[in-house]
Amino acid sequence: SVRVRIAPSPTGNLHIGTARTAVFNWLFARHHGGQFILRVEDTDLERSRTEYTENIVDGLTWLGLTWDEGPWFQSQRLDLYRQKIQQLLDQGLAYRCYCTEDELEAMRTAQKARGLAPRYDNRHRHLTPEQRAAFVTAGRKPVIRFQIQDHQEITWEDLVRGTVTWKGRDLGGDMVIARAASEDEIGQPLYNFVVVVDDIEMAISHVIRGEDHIGNTPKQILLYAALSATVPQFAHTPLILNPAGQKLSKRDGVTSISEFRQLGYTQEAIANYMTLLGWSPPEGMAEIFSLEAAAQQFSFERVNKAGAKFDWDKLNWLNSQYLHRMPSPELTDRLIPYWQAAEFVFDPVGDRPWLETITQLLGPSLVLLKDAVIQGEVFFKTTLMFNDDATAQLQQQGMGEVLSELISLQDAHANQPLTLDLAKEILNQVVASKKLKKGMVMRSLRAALMGEMHGPDLLQSWLILHHRGQDTTRLNAAL
Ligand code: GLU
Repeated sequence: SVRVRIAPSPTGNLHIGTARTAVFNWLFARHHGGQFILRVEDTDLERSRTEYTENIVDGLTWLGLTWDEGPWFQSQRLDLYRQKIQQLLDQGLAYRCYCTEDELEAMRTAQKARGLAPRYDNRHRHLTPEQRAAFVTAGRKPVIRFQIQDHQEITWEDLVRGTVTWKGRDLGGDMVIARAASEDEIGQPLYNFVVVVDDIEMAISHVIRGEDHIGNTPKQILLYAALSATVPQFAHTPLILNPAGQKLSKRDGVTSISEFRQLGYTQEAIANYMTLLGWSPPEGMAEIFSLEAAAQQFSFERVNKAGAKFDWDKLNWLNSQYLHRMPSPELTDRLIPYWQAAEFVFDPVGDRPWLETITQLLGPSLVLLKDAVIQGEVFFKTTLMFNDDATAQLQQQGMGEVLSELISLQDAHANQPLTLDLAKEILNQVVASKKLKKGMVMRSLRAALMGEMHGPDLLQSWLILHHRGQDTTRLNAAL
């Protein structure tokens, strides 16, 4: 049965690359009715932090990538890893290496001088008991290395990349699987080793991860053999690139899921877009789809080998599509936290119908949820600033009288609710009595109510402002 996992290291917030890998794992699991497992790779205790774990868990949850098992924590499984390392030591497949950092550095420098790629030359693979004793006496702390034979050839059928072959001699020499510790102890076990132990223990059938791990896979395959386990299938997914074609990094600005969330991207748009980063939907399938719909169609045949360029315009377009299609009660639910974060004053329950009218007005022009903060501010604030154009409009000849007329007509109708029809009627009466062009009256009304000459539908805006009596306040203030 299909069992896949996402194995983030909690050394930073949930990165878009990890999230995209999680999406592919999730889609593959769901497509095959298999299991998706969350495993937190927190063996690096110095760099791992619980707030990053929380950020990762929150981000995956927010995206809708529910897991069937976990989270497992590697930090709670150290005994198991040490036991397996001991097993390799006992079998003679791993050994203690006492080289100092200086010796390793000298080795690399010499290799470089000869035009060779730096690698460990396996010099401590067969120490005599006397040599070993001398290092121990000298107080050297050994790392543990796993033997990699130069003549070995490692091949696997990658679900994305096809046949991949590596030569043992290109793997950098015998690999370190545990950090330095005192003699007879086993130091901190390292990624390439623990990942294999866990994937075996958790019966992972398919390892789906970023292409940046492709050089680790041959080493891991050798470890499967050493641990007498079946090798899973591998799928190395293309990297996400910045618009310049380089691997997306922190320098490219927004890269973590929580940042996208703060900016006001919806989980649907992000999940949809990440799926498109590397996967092409089959012929006839629209580009806007839910994770569930994508899961039905997902296969590695439609995953591209080439890196996927991150395209902000495309993501923004997708996000706006989701916002424009969202029913306004739901959109209101999503906008409320942004308005609250902006410290706008309102009662999310008592003002609910009013908030929904704001949503209906602004919804069609939103690209990001956060846009509703800038565009909506005018309805919440109690002191209005006038920009130059609005000031100029209000200073035109006769505009004061227009405003007074608007105020008195509104007063005259104060006994009935301000509806769209009544607002139109008041406007028409002003036009008639002042003998002005309708556009002129409307521009003055907009300047007085909104403080600027461009913006959402004027009459709707007027009704929204009326709810809190801001229309009268502003018309009087503009007089
Ligand atoms: N902790 C590794 C990472 O975050 C996991 C890689 C893997 O899936 O094996 O890159």
